[in-house]
Amino acid sequence: MHEWALAESVIKTAVEHAARGKLRSVSEVAVFLGELQSIDKEIFAFALAELVKSSFKGLSGCKFRLLAEPAAFKCKACSKEFTLKVLKKTEEEAENIHFIPEMAHTFLKCPRCKSPDFDITAGRGVSIKFIKGEA
Ligand SMILES: [Zn+2]
Repeated sequence: MHEWALAESVIKTAVEHAARGKLRSVSEVAVFLGELQSIDKEIFAFALAELVKSSFKGLSGCKFRLLAEPAAFKCKACSKEFTLKVLKKTEEEAENIHFIPEMAHTFLKCPRCKSPDFDITAGRGVSIKFIKGEA
C-alpha cells in the first residue's frame, strides 16, 4: 500500500514548512484524505507516528488530524456539480472507484445530462489543510 509513501511526503512537507516559517515546533497538522484515494487510516496514522520519531525534533509533539475529503465532480457538458452520494452506487462500483479514480469515468454519469465527461474536482488526493506551530 501507499500509506507509508504518503505519510513520508506529509512529514517532509511539515518539516519544510517549519523551516520556512522558522518554527521551533509544529503542534498540529491537518491532512485531507480524498474519498477516491483508498487509504487505510490506521496504517497511515501509524506510519506518521513512526516516521515522526526519526524526523525533525520539533515534530515530536505534533498531532496529526486526518480529515476525509468527499469526492466531488463537475460535468464538462452542463457544469452540474455532483458527489458520489447523489449517485446511488452499488458497493462493487464504489470499491472499483476507490481503487482506481480513473474508473470513475466508466461508472459515473452526470445526474442532469447523463454525460460521462466530467472533471474530478475533489477527493482524489492527499493534501495538507493546515500546519500549526510555534516560532
Ligand atoms: Zn451534465
